[in-house]
Amino acid sequence: MRAVRLEEIGRVDLVDLDEAVAAPGDVIVQTIATGICGSDIHGYTGENGRRIPGQVMGHETVGRISGIGAAVDADRFPVGALVTVNPVIVPVEDADRYAGREQHDPRRRIIGVDPTIVSAFAERYAVPAANVVVLPELDNPLHAALIEPLAVALHAVHRVGVAPGQTVLVVGGGPIGQSCVLAALRAGATRVLVSEPHAARRAVCAALGADVIDPAGISIPEVVRGRTGGQGVDVAIDAVGTSATVSDAVQSTVLGGRVCLVGMAHPELSLDAYRISTEERVLVGSFTYPAKTFAEAARWVGEGGEVFDALISEVVAPERADEVLARLARTPDVPAKVLIRFSPDRADAEGAS
Ligand SMILES: [Zn+2]
Repeated sequence: MRAVRLEEIGRVDLVDLDEAVAAPGDVIVQTIATGICGSDIHGYTGENGRRIPGQVMGHETVGRISGIGAAVDADRFPVGALVTVNPVIVPVEDADRYAGREQHDPRRRIIGVDPTIVSAFAERYAVPAANVVVLPELDNPLHAALIEPLAVALHAVHRVGVAPGQTVLVVGGGPIGQSCVLAALRAGATRVLVSEPHAARRAVCAALGADVIDPAGISIPEVVRGRTGGQGVDVAIDAVGTSATVSDAVQSTVLGGRVCLVGMAHPELSLDAYRISTEERVLVGSFTYPAKTFAEAARWVGEGGEVFDALISEVVAPERADEVLARLARTPDVPAKVLIRFSPDRADAEGAS
């Protein structure tokens, strides 16, 4: 079977691997398409040190069940069903202890990150049945590859507590920022502002319903105050994660406002501490999602919606993976998510006939 493998830092190849084999509790997923995450790009360039040559990455995916292990219930996981995969694997022994906060398990393994797991940049791969989420048939099955980044955004919105009627600033309008726009609107935000330097990404954010800001040469907090009657926003979400973006997020909120740090650009930040202490802001972190939030994102996409089309800007064949990863590493102004598509789906074949 074919797989896009990281051969060395800065190069992936389409290679032929041994067929995926299901352990008793596993499901074999036949990949339809898998999104390229920012963390995959930084793994490709070696910047984040979180990917290792020889590994098959990929954790934002949609596929169909093509086989199940001996201990898997065929009624719950029927062959042919449209599925996505929750990449956060918790050992069975830890399931009760970390229920509702699986991302906190120090023994968690993440599909697409753990180098020992052949992941969704392969044509087929084996995953524990507990991580497989069966979906309804969708008008556009590719939308299901967005469930993972949407789950990241939903969790950030839950963590920071966006309430109906609130105003929200999202710093960074890439795929996670775009997902945060939709999650904040879904939570009832009446106004979502997005600061994003690249015009193509701003256009996507505007199409999603955000009020966009070009940060070039201006003060983001001043512009945000100007657009919110001098007050600032109730909530800010930093989807970038540098000292400058956290500072913008903090200073753009009202006194007592709430800020969520979901971006991970830099491992250390300097912080204007008095904007937190004397102005009583709350700064919360957010990382991946618990299983219940992943399931919520799957139900959200399962409701359908053309709005998700805007989150996908390009779909490429696996032969082009290296070229595309190299381009994404060079130019961050790609409008939205790029997917690697492995198989034409049954639904397409029916549509084409
Ligand atoms: Zn990701």
